[in-house]
Amino acid sequence: MTKAFFGLPEDVVFCKRCVISNQRPSSSVEFKHRHEDKKATIGIGADGVCDACRYHDVKEAQIDWGKRDHALKALLDQHRRNDGGYDVIVPGSGGKDSAYTSHILKYKYGMNPLTVTWAPHKYTQIGWKNFESWTHVGGLDNILFTPNGRLHRYLTQQAFLNLLHPFQPFIVGQRIIGPLMAAKFGVKLVMYGENQAEYGNASEENYKPTMDRKFFSVGNPEEMILGGRKVKDIVAEKRFTLNDFAPYIAPDAAYLEERGVEVHYLGYYLKWDPQECYYYAVENTGFQANSERTEGTYSKYSSIDDQIDMFHYFTTLVKFGIGRATYDAAQEIRNHKITREEGVNLVRKYDQEFPNKYYKEFLEYIDITEEQFWETVDRFRSPHLWVKADGKWKLKHAVWHETK
Ligand SMILES: [Zn+2]
Repeated sequence: MTKAFFGLPEDVVFCKRCVISNQRPSSSVEFKHRHEDKKATIGIGADGVCDACRYHDVKEAQIDWGKRDHALKALLDQHRRNDGGYDVIVPGSGGKDSAYTSHILKYKYGMNPLTVTWAPHKYTQIGWKNFESWTHVGGLDNILFTPNGRLHRYLTQQAFLNLLHPFQPFIVGQRIIGPLMAAKFGVKLVMYGENQAEYGNASEENYKPTMDRKFFSVGNPEEMILGGRKVKDIVAEKRFTLNDFAPYIAPDAAYLEERGVEVHYLGYYLKWDPQECYYYAVENTGFQANSERTEGTYSKYSSIDDQIDMFHYFTTLVKFGIGRATYDAAQEIRNHKITREEGVNLVRKYDQEFPNKYYKEFLEYIDITEEQFWETVDRFRSPHLWVKADGKWKLKHAVWHETK
């Protein structure tokens, strides 16, 4: 009997409508990783349908989107300012989703958004270009927040070595930056784009317009876990001081409540479709897709601003048996852009492709050797997912096996 790592379900089940498997973790849980919470994964019902597909049915048939739009207008009316002050914070990178969110709030709903960006680890050329277009073409104000690179690189390295989750410190920073800037600028409304839950996280999240303020609380910052290590242990090594961790320390729930800061998802109010966001961003903020597809998938326009992004998905492939093509195809099947059969073929073709293009940059960025890279990767291959045959690692379960 093999023992699944990270508390993953022993039996691998793929959703019969999309291509996601029950190994997919919830990203809200990934965020809580720093508190060492247990991992929860997407549910697949007795009918073989996953939580995300089930929510999609609700989205299609049961939600009165006209009513939701009225609710959005009512919410915005409470916050709208005409005195030259910002009235909503939109966190994002200037990718298709945040470009759409910020532009539509400003130019359709008459708000005055301040967009805030937690800088990617290392900008790609196309990412920087799109970031510039967001302000230059889209006509939006932005604050680019770049954390101490020496610390951020170290935390990313630790997150890779200890958790095989190099994006964990980035996710922490990105989640905090919105409410943090709202509190600083005296803005009470923060608007994220899609509710991440839509893609398979804690599904009850989809039914709420707001993110719980408690979500941001860290308690004692010295006890906070980043990159799989306690902050106080990193500080004790005298590498860094507690002050260096300022950008990772979330504003307290009580502090946010006092200032009346609310965090909402636009995807709760407007029917969200990533491809439509892309078309909107091309039209309105000068957004451009990449000239080539991203390694590990077939898509060209989502999450293209960071050189190490593909390593996030490479590590999900190793830990959960699902890579970037799986995530992309699952979403596109749900939104009727491709059929399941096409999705299965795309997953078979691209999911396991190794991200060579920025491999050297990634090793340099986190300052490890190739040997350390592979030793770490192989340490995280759960025996219920991977088997070594003829010196090569192979997935025991793949969506194309199930659907022969
Ligand atoms: Zn599904």
